[in-house]
Formats: sequence, C-alpha cells, structure tokens
Amino acid sequence: MSEPSVPGGRGAVLDLPCGETKRVRELDLGKREFDCPCGDSHAVVMDVHPPDRFLPEFLVEILQETIETTSDDMPEFGTAHLMGIVLEEFPEAVVSEDVSEDGELGAGIVWVTDFDSRRLHEIIVELVVELMEHAVSHADDDDVVSEFESKMLQFDVSEFVDQYRAQRDLDPEPYM
Ligand SMILES: [Zn+2]
Repeated sequence: MSEPSVPGGRGAVLDLPCGETKRVRELDLGKREFDCPCGDSHAVVMDVHPPDRFLPEFLVEILQETIETTSDDMPEFGTAHLMGIVLEEFPEAVVSEDVSEDGELGAGIVWVTDFDSRRLHEIIVELVVELMEHAVSHADDDDVVSEFESKMLQFDVSEFVDQYRAQRDLDPEPYM
C-alpha cells in the first residue's frame, strides 16, 4: 500500500451539467453512475475502463483496426476516444477532469455525463455504429464490408445494451 501525497488535499470538484457539483474523490473505479441531488443519475466513466464496458470485442477490434488515432498518448482506440465522440456530439452534457495528478483515483481522466449509465451506453453504441458505417463504406476490402454488414443487420442497439449490461452485471470485477 502506498500513500501518494496529493497537492490540494481533497481533490478536484466537477461542475455538473445539471448545476450540482461532485467531488471526484467520491467516485471510484468500480462506479458506473451515481445518484445526484438533482434527482437524476449521472454516468461516470474513467479512461482506465476498457472499451468493452460498452462494446463487444468484435466492435472494439474493428475500431482498433480501422480508426486512425493521432495522439501519441492514446495510440490505440479506447474509452477516451469513445468519450471524445460523445463530447463532440453532446458538448453540453459531458464534463471531464484530468485527475492524473491525483493518485487517489488511479485514473487519468474522469467523465461525468448528464445521462445515466444506460442512456450513455446506448448513445455510445449508436455513435460508434454511425462512425463504423462511415468508415466501412470507404473500405477497399469487400470481405470487411460484407462481414460488417451481416453483423450489423442483426444488431439492435437497445436490445444489445440490455443484454450486454445484464451479462456484465454478473461479472464481479467488470473493469479489471
Ligand atoms: Zn445532477
């Protein structure tokens, strides 16, 4: 056990889209959402959560193969990119904080959204499907295109999210 010394003492405070505030130290790696005094639940995402919190492995693999990332810090497509896409689409609904200096959390970036965790999950899947449809439509490889299309034909976002969440709730340590 190490005791990291933290400048500032009590950690950062997020100003939430709803007008409330949340101390990042009250969040932890296993938290997916919290109940806010505004009456809603807000989703919590950290960059250390693997992208398969939201997406099945076949989608993550295709994304990692097809999406070119430009950042040296995040060479492989991951959760930070997913949240970047959400932020681009819903800039008013997402707040984030760089907590990499705060050893208490064990994460680099924390995002909190106005949506609850289930709604965020649906939004991410919808945005990724759109992104991939766009990317795949430009692919030269016919096998990639037809494989993707056949998988997407059977893909229902809401049903997928329900099933995926139920399945992951059975996993005692979904992020590690
Ligand atoms: Zn709130």
